Amino acid sequence: MTPPPPRSPTAPPAPAPPPDVLVIGAGIAGLTAARALSRAGLAALVLEKSRGLGGRAATRTVHGARVDHGAQFFTARDPRFRAEVDGWLRDGVARVWADGFPSWSAAGGWHDAEPGANPRYACPDGMNALGKRLAEGLAVTRGARAVAVRPADGGWEVELEDGTRRRAPRVVVTAPVPQALELVRGVEWPAGMRDGLEAVTYAPCFAVMAGYPDAPAPAWPGVRLPDHPDLAWIASDGDKRDAGGAGTVLVLHATPTFTRRRFDDPPAANVADLLRAASAVVPWAERPAWTDHQRWRYALAEAPHPERALQPAPGLVLAGDGFAGGVGGRIEGAYLSGLAAASPLTHSD
Ligand SMILES: Cc1cc2nc3c(=O)[nH]c(=O)nc-3n(C[C@H](O)[C@H](O)[C@H](O)COP(=O)(O)OP(=O)(O)OC[C@H]3O[C@@H](n4cnc5c(N)ncnc54)[C@H](O)[C@@H]3O)c2cc1C
Repeated sequence: MTPPPPRSPTAPPAPAPPPDVLVIGAGIAGLTAARALSRAGLAALVLEKSRGLGGRAATRTVHGARVDHGAQFFTARDPRFRAEVDGWLRDGVARVWADGFPSWSAAGGWHDAEPGANPRYACPDGMNALGKRLAEGLAVTRGARAVAVRPADGGWEVELEDGTRRRAPRVVVTAPVPQALELVRGVEWPAGMRDGLEAVTYAPCFAVMAGYPDAPAPAWPGVRLPDHPDLAWIASDGDKRDAGGAGTVLVLHATPTFTRRRFDDPPAANVADLLRAASAVVPWAERPAWTDHQRWRYALAEAPHPERALQPAPGLVLAGDGFAGGVGGRIEGAYLSGLAAASPLTHSD
């Protein structure tokens, strides 16, 4: 038998087989959906516009400190999510961070954490460890921003910002609902469905990260400010991990009211005002060695859709924390929505 000719070293690699499913978004929902689809034997390709994994479960390194600038912690109530979290705890991806958080108000001072609250989990390496974990073994193309999703040849076509087009029989869109609606604007839908989706709203959040290399760590992991007009939350972020000499790091979250009012203001003014507000709770908060900030237009699903995922046309599913189905969005809601997104695509055709 004649052996096949040796491959030229310059021959291009064989093209990857076309995916069975394109998943837009490598956040918790998209990665969970892609994993469930892969486990059901479908070839899933995740398209992610950013360079990171995990979406709003986000971490960045600032002045040598790992800082969670998006989701701060998560809870696990549903048995399916709890089983997943058990694996994360076993492997050190996550740990119990707190049993609850105290609250502070100008009028009433400090109140202890509610007794018997669910454990709050965090990740020693940062919340984006969840995205990295969920993405293991999955095909993810980063830096791939989808600009339109449309029907094509009995399946679906996703157009990317660079002009390239990807096709697959099925598509899952996990961008926040207003952005998802923009992507699928050309798709014909059952009457009434669009109204339900347009009713899904998210609270925005202006987040401040601030480093205090020489300050003592606060006595609490995080504190809620339920009555404050501007500031909703202060975390002692370094409390989640070995800070590696980076010292104390605070993460402040502005209220939705403050963020809506000041969204387009110069960030430096917002940072200064929020640090001033925090100094009522942490006297040295106004004297950081460094600061950073992040503006989240879609932070938390305020009015999620009652379904966990929606299939407006055969082979097209919308999912994400905006489809919380009653669990109130968040990381757990995104995970459950990702599972729900995979279900009709693995059973119906
Ligand atoms: C400041 C803040 C604090 C929070 N605090 C908590 C908390 O303490 N506890 C908690 O449980 N939850 C918290 N959350 C909410 C939690 O982060 C989200 O509910 C959850 O991460 C949402 O996951 P998702 O996969 O639905 O969406 P996302 O995480 O938004 O993932 C969507 C992904 O799609 C990508 N994408 C979007 N558009 C496109 C496109 N056109 N093309 C390609 N890719 C695209 C995005 O880049 C992103 O990676 C917080 C969020 C924020 C912002």
